[in-house]
Formats: sequence, structure tokens, C-alpha cells
Amino acid sequence: MPTGGSQDHKTLQRIDFWLIKKSWQPAKGNPHPQENNVTEKREEKMRKYILFIPVATFIICLFVFNLNSRGEESLFSPKFVSSPLVQKIFSFIEMNEETIIKEWIYLTEMPAPSGHEETRAEYLKKEFKAAGLDRTYLDASGNVVGILKGESGGKNIILSAHMDTVFQGVWEIKVKREGNRLKAPGIGDDTANLINMLWSLRTLKQSGFKPVHTYYFLGTVGEEVALVGMRDFLERTAEDFDILLALDGDLGKVHYGALGFGGGKIIFRGPGAHTMQSRGVPSPNLAVAKALERIYALELPSQPIDKWTILNVGQIGGGRVRNAVSQESFFTVDLRSADQKELEHAQARVYRICQEVASEVGVEVEIELDDTARAYRLPGGKSSFLVQTTLDILEFLKVRDVEVNPLGSTEANAGLAKGILSLNLGRTYGRYKHSLREEAEIDGLFLALKQILLMIYSLEQKYPQAP
Ligand SMILES: [Zn+2]
Repeated sequence: MPTGGSQDHKTLQRIDFWLIKKSWQPAKGNPHPQENNVTEKREEKMRKYILFIPVATFIICLFVFNLNSRGEESLFSPKFVSSPLVQKIFSFIEMNEETIIKEWIYLTEMPAPSGHEETRAEYLKKEFKAAGLDRTYLDASGNVVGILKGESGGKNIILSAHMDTVFQGVWEIKVKREGNRLKAPGIGDDTANLINMLWSLRTLKQSGFKPVHTYYFLGTVGEEVALVGMRDFLERTAEDFDILLALDGDLGKVHYGALGFGGGKIIFRGPGAHTMQSRGVPSPNLAVAKALERIYALELPSQPIDKWTILNVGQIGGGRVRNAVSQESFFTVDLRSADQKELEHAQARVYRICQEVASEVGVEVEIELDDTARAYRLPGGKSSFLVQTTLDILEFLKVRDVEVNPLGSTEANAGLAKGILSLNLGRTYGRYKHSLREEAEIDGLFLALKQILLMIYSLEQKYPQAP
């Protein structure tokens, strides 16, 4: 705005004037008057300074602005690790490594495909109780909830790991141990983090930890089928939650956003006809072909990562026989984006293409597009205190292959959708997840466990004040 601009200009001029006046004061403790040539030299010098002042002011402004734009501060300090409590926590983990591995194997060999989590739920409930949590129960959806109460005025924090696996119909699981690796379906996703959660709370109780915040430990159902367990829990709960830490994903992968999901199903319909009478009859198959060509020609951003968007046509079909024009043909679109605006933009373009093609070919179109899973971003994104704290902890633990992006698809998504500060913490290093030859590394599990405990310790020390 012009008024504001000239105001700023005046202020700058005033500052310059003040600086000039100040720099023209004779040096203290010099009683002798200056000779003319010395004065001239000094004035020359001053003029250079005067020129330099606006530039310096500008540089300082840039610097200050840059500091601010760096965002929130990490809560973690490497000093925490020498505290007696953290020392106790770490040595408890180190003492119990073999027991932890045994229980990890035991729990993995307990099948729990989505919809069949009861056995694991019973086990967790029993162990939550035995660990001495303040309250433990199974909710209406089948989630196990264990509460560790803090002081009044503390925050409400959820830590969740999902009990279900993608392995429908696999009722016999045998874990193979080879050196630093464990191999079995579900060994990593997310049984490793169920173990991390269980041992986090046992460790905290054993070490005499008295929390400021209240912690809700959740073993959830149905994560692999659209996060149903967590969504139900957040829908029904009367509590207000401040933070949700989803224990899921590989160690070192940090997602400061929830990937948005779009796409849907598009169906073209026409009158149909025998091939012999098909001249000029509008073909739904042709409409599918034209639409696909245009949809695949859409340019979707891959950079910057905050706008990353992708689509895929996974299914296509139509017509019943070879010798007739199809009456109905369809295809599906799977559309994903880190950014809600990009998602909606791509969605709108798919919609428009299908309508244009329908009118060009002369068929009817039914477009069922999905807009239930929106894209969300953790407030502050990459520079939020939760991300900064996690990154500092990962660096301290020397976790390798750290990746930070907004492409999360864990239970943190359900938290972000409810306005809760949500982030995922990985379980261990692993590979081949969602396949029968899934593998997980043993060493990584202990790092992940320490990561969770250091996060809790950091949140306890200095939760940021609301601005
Ligand atoms: Zn998972």
C-alpha cells in the first residue's frame, strides 16, 4: 500500500538521520580541534558509511525475516540423554533386548488380518493392564485403549500402532530369524510398532516416570482398510487431543502432511447395436479410449514436493461380446496429491474431460468422484516443532536414510483431518512390506523404541506455549 510504503520510507530516513548525527559526534577524550584535511577525510569516510546504512538495514531485515521463517524450535536437546531418567530408560531397553525380540516374534505369529484383530487385542489389553496403566479398555470398534494419566493442565497425547495386517486368509505365520533380520508377513507393518508401543509404556512405568501430559496408547483395528479404527476412535471420543503420534512406516521416514486421495469411477453409456448395424452408433468404448488419452496427457506436478500429484487408471472395462457395440464401459482413476488445491484442480480437469468426451462421442456419462480423503498439512509443515524434534532425535540416534515429505498415509492422516498435530514415527528398517516375504531389522527396532521415548521425554520437558 502506498501510504504504508511512504511511512516506512520516512522511518528509514529518520533512522539514517539519527545514525548520521550519532556518527558525527567528536570522539570522546580528544580535546584538540581537527585539522581541515583530516575532517574532510573523515567526512568522506562518513559518506561511505551513509551509503552503506540502507544496504545494511536491508541485509539485517532479510536476516531477521529468514530467522523467523525457519519456524518453530525443536524440543529435543542431546543433554536430555544424560538425565538419570533417560539413562534408566535406555539401560532397561538394553537389558531386555532378547525378551523384546521374543515377544515381537510371538506377536507376529498371531495372525490379525483386518477385521480379525481380536486375539492381538486381548493380548495387548492384558499386557497394558499388567504394565500398570491407569485405565485399559476395548472400545466399541475393537481398539485397545490404555491411558497413562498426567497432571491436570497437561496435554492429551495419542500414540497409536495398528494391530491389523493386510494378509487376509494367512492363518499360519512362522518367523525366520537370520542374523539382524526377522522375516515373516507383518513382522514390520505394524507389529514392530505394537512392540515399540508396548515396551515404551513398560519402560516408562518401570523407570518411575511421572508424566505431565496424559498418554493414550492405542492398538487400533482396520488401519489397512481406510484407517477405520482410528477414525472411529476420534469420532466417538469426548476428549480433546493435542498430539497424535502414529507409530507406523519405516524408521527415518517423516511425513508432515496427509496425502489426499481422489479419483473415482467413470461410466459411459450408449444405446448399443449389433456390429452390422453399428455405423454411426455412439460407442462407450471409444469414449473410454478418448478420455484416457486426454487424462494421461494432463501435466501433474512432481515438484515442488508440497504439490506432488499423481494419477493412475487401474481398471478399465466394457461391453459384453465381440459382435456388438458396448452399452456400458467404465474406467477408474486413482488420484493422489500432497496438496488439496492440486487434488481438486486435477479432479476438476478429469471431470471436464469426461464430460467433453461424452458430448463429442454422443454417449451419456456418470462420474463418481471421491472427495473423502482430503490432503492436509501439519501447521508449520516441515518447520513445525514436531518435525524439528523428530529430525533432531533421528540425527542424535544416527538413523540412516532420513526422508521428510508431506506424503503421509498413516493414522496421522485421521488426526490431521481432526485438527490434531499429527506425525508418524517409524518402526525399524524394513523391506517388502505388504508381501509374504516381508523383512525387518532387529537393531532398527531398538533405535525406533528410543526415538519414541526421547520424543515423549522432549514433550514432557518443554511443550511449546500457545502463541
Ligand atoms: Zn502400517
